[in-house]
Order: sequence, then structure tokens, then C-alpha cells
Amino acid sequence: MTTVYDPAHTLDKTHPELLQKKFIVFTDFDGTITRTDSNDYLTDNFGMGFAARRKLADKVLTEELTFRDAFKQMLDSVAVNKSFDECRQIVVDKIELDPGFKVFLEYCLSQDIPVIVLSGGMEPLISALLQNLVGPNEIPIVSNGAGKSPQGTWEITYHDDSGFGHDKSLAIKPFTEARKNLPEGERPTYFYCGDGVSDLSAAKETDLLFAKEGHDLINYCKSSGMPYRVFKDFSTILADVKDVVEGRKTAAEIAEN
Ligand SMILES: [Mg+2]
Repeated sequence: MTTVYDPAHTLDKTHPELLQKKFIVFTDFDGTITRTDSNDYLTDNFGMGFAARRKLADKVLTEELTFRDAFKQMLDSVAVNKSFDECRQIVVDKIELDPGFKVFLEYCLSQDIPVIVLSGGMEPLISALLQNLVGPNEIPIVSNGAGKSPQGTWEITYHDDSGFGHDKSLAIKPFTEARKNLPEGERPTYFYCGDGVSDLSAAKETDLLFAKEGHDLINYCKSSGMPYRVFKDFSTILADVKDVVEGRKTAAEIAEN
């Protein structure tokens, strides 16, 4: 497994071969590749609980709190009760994969299309889950990390200084900048798959956004006028990506809304 905890936002530098690819799929992890959000699961069952978590989410909506601070409070409430190793085992036992993701990943790899995870979660949990759900793999992960808190428990270590803790657009920008130098017909196509508000800044950098049915990202797309394609699971994304890769449709034709 190639894992990239990348505080300098240099995915294009650590993996320069990615700049040569014709297509790349950037994807969120929790709630997108997985059916449920692993951090919410831990918080609801082993931390502050669902009601308190929703209260924090409301404070983020009304901008009383940044997502970054709210998310840390959630995870700290888990860390006082469960060690990091226990959390890793819990998510491996409980969190399920999107039913279409494995077939989607196999198609992408067979077509030399990299799939890159951009996540606000913690790298050790994501890599353990991916290993468990899809087996040995080389999926690059750009995310937050985990370290020791002053109290001796574990705590999240953020990727950057943004209010989300990880500004996902930072990893994509070098790619979109580099392709501007290419002639129009040779520019790569970038896809993004996500479900939450932290995906919006990254999605704006790409050509086709897949937004998960029934989740917040769709509301944000609607209010900001961002085109998107709804997906229920990765079988929808597979069909659409195939249409683009095999030349039947353009990304713009698929982004329907
Ligand atoms: Mg998500």
C-alpha cells in the first residue's frame, strides 16, 4: 500500500508519474467509498453520541465553530474511551464498502486510471479499512494523521491550517495548473466523487463531480450553481466514467444538474 500523508501538498512531486495520466479519479473516503462515515460511527457509539454530535454540526452550520474544531471535539470524545488500536479494529469490523467500489477500482486500474483518496479522516484508519475492504492495493491517500495528545491519549493531526483541517483542493491544484500548459486536445480529465461540504472546494477543480444521493454536497452544489451528477453507488460512477474514457460522452454532457 502506498500511503501519502502529505503536509506539503506535493502529491504531484512524490508521484510525478500521475501528471502524465489521461484520467484521474479523486475521491472522498468516508460516506463515499464506505457506506457509513467511520468517524461518525466511532463518535456515536464510543464518544459523545449522536445527539451531541448533531449539536456540534449545527454550530458548524451557523459558523459558531469551524469544522476543524468540531471534528477534533468529536474525536477527542472517542479517544478518552478507546485507544487508537481499538478504534482501528472497530472500524475494520463495522464499516462496509460501497457495493460497486471494488469493481470500479478494478476497471480503473485495468485502464491505467489512478484512484486517489482525499480525506478529512485519519490515514491509519483509512489504510486499514482499504486493506480490509479491497485487499492489498496501491491507492494513494492524502488525509489527516493521528498522533499523541498532551493528555497521553491519541488525537487527530491536521493536514493543513484550513478550517476543514484538510483543504482537499490543495492536492488537486498542481494537477489542474500543470494541464493548463498542454494543448486542449491533450489535457487530462479529472473526476471527483464525494458526499460532503468539504468536497466542494476540491470538486470545483475537476471536470466532473459525482455527488452522493441524499447527502449535503448536493445542497451545496445547488446553492453554488456547481454542475454535478448524482450517484447512488459506484456502479453509476463506473458506467459514466466508462462513457467518458471510451469516448461516448464528454464530462460536461454527464454533469446534468
Ligand atoms: Mg465524506
